Amino acid sequence: MSCHKRSSDGDIDRSKSSLDERYVATSTHPCCILDIDWSPDDSGFRDFVMKHVGIAVQAFRYLWALPWSLAGLMAALVAILFGATVRIGNGTLEVSGGRLGEWASRLPFSDQICAITLGHVILGIDSAMLSSCSAHERVHVRQYERWGILFIPLYFGSSIVQLLNGRDPYLDNRFEREAHSQ
Ligand SMILES: [Zn+2]
Repeated sequence: MSCHKRSSDGDIDRSKSSLDERYVATSTHPCCILDIDWSPDDSGFRDFVMKHVGIAVQAFRYLWALPWSLAGLMAALVAILFGATVRIGNGTLEVSGGRLGEWASRLPFSDQICAITLGHVILGIDSAMLSSCSAHERVHVRQYERWGILFIPLYFGSSIVQLLNGRDPYLDNRFEREAHSQ
């Protein structure tokens, strides 16, 4: 790897003092300001850029899904107050069990649903059921990251379209089909 030292007329001045013939970073060149040892064809610089672009993209995904994540956090807080347990993993907050989980397990449609995802928060009936549908719920997390605040309106819009066409509003929902196909 190397860096550039620029003379006053802008030419690159190669330092010979370094045994490995690296260039010394002493100018106002961006790589030197950031104290990065690089050259344009350097894989280290590409890695630096890709790493920070990746961080920015991931931050955008969290912000884009944040309204639904906040709704999930509020539901999670209530569940925790009723004895639910919390687990953090793969960039999500997983909450399961407690009295709310017990009540949810008695609902008429509880045999079809083992968890619900709101943004980056996954709420499960209990830890065993949450583990069994974890892969499915993570697809929903990716869908929230892709569609952000639009996800819930699009989800219910898809269910309404399926219902109007005489199909199952849950199983034929395009987002559920994608999640069930994983
Ligand atoms: Zn689902």
